[in-house]
Amino acid sequence: MKKIHKGDRVQVIAGNDRGRIGRVLAVIPGKNRIIVENVNMITKHQRATQSLRQPGIIEREGTIDMSNVLLICPECDEPTRIGFTEVEGRKMRLCKQCGEIFE
Ligand SMILES: [Zn+2]
Repeated sequence: MKKIHKGDRVQVIAGNDRGRIGRVLAVIPGKNRIIVENVNMITKHQRATQSLRQPGIIEREGTIDMSNVLLICPECDEPTRIGFTEVEGRKMRLCKQCGEIFE
């Protein structure tokens, strides 16, 4: 189980976007990398194709390492480190700040 899930709110703690808060758009399977909205924006020069007549510059999010973010706890709303615990045989995440347990 990973510490960060799709849909989580996270705060970036390293790199150019340090301090920025965004929602996790995707978790890359098999890697500890995630995509966070409006974080690590990269520009791509798009050529005109049959489906896209208008060439231009497209901005989209690049992946960042999961260790460069902290989860914002849904309960206490603070950036926090995550622990794991088991509740009735199910592995759950645990906020080390306030002790809240969530999926
Ligand atoms: Zn908390």
